[in-house]
Amino acid sequence: MGTVVYGTYHFTKLMGYFGNPEQCSICGRTYKKAVVKDTRWGHLDYIPLLPMGTKYILGCPICADDKPIDKKTAQSVMNDPNPGCQQELKPYIKYDKAAKYREFDIKDVLTGEEICVASDITKSQAKDIAKIRGFKKVETINI
Ligand SMILES: [Zn+2]
Repeated sequence: MGTVVYGTYHFTKLMGYFGNPEQCSICGRTYKKAVVKDTRWGHLDYIPLLPMGTKYILGCPICADDKPIDKKTAQSVMNDPNPGCQQELKPYIKYDKAAKYREFDIKDVLTGEEICVASDITKSQAKDIAKIRGFKKVETINI
């Protein structure tokens, strides 16, 4: 008989960027805010079985300074997408194998600017950074 492991999973999804660009009071960057959907599941032996609720998070897409919002607020934010103002952000991880150095960057595709979000991080920290921002797949670039 093995041990049964139970706990909670979080699944996050970036719903998009909405509203007017606002300057973040933490990182000082001016971007449209990100809405991230965070669904919790209870798992048994790592198999998600029990839905435990969904919350929405409204946050800065760069530093992830964020606050939870309810579903109604999330829907009203997402109904105001401000399509006239484009915003495209591409996350990636830079990895230097020899130096065992890893950093998480977000590129502003429209301006070409690379913003370093975190440097000298572990693989699991990089995963957390992606997760909190709702990024599904983050490319690793070997440097
Ligand atoms: Zn910020």
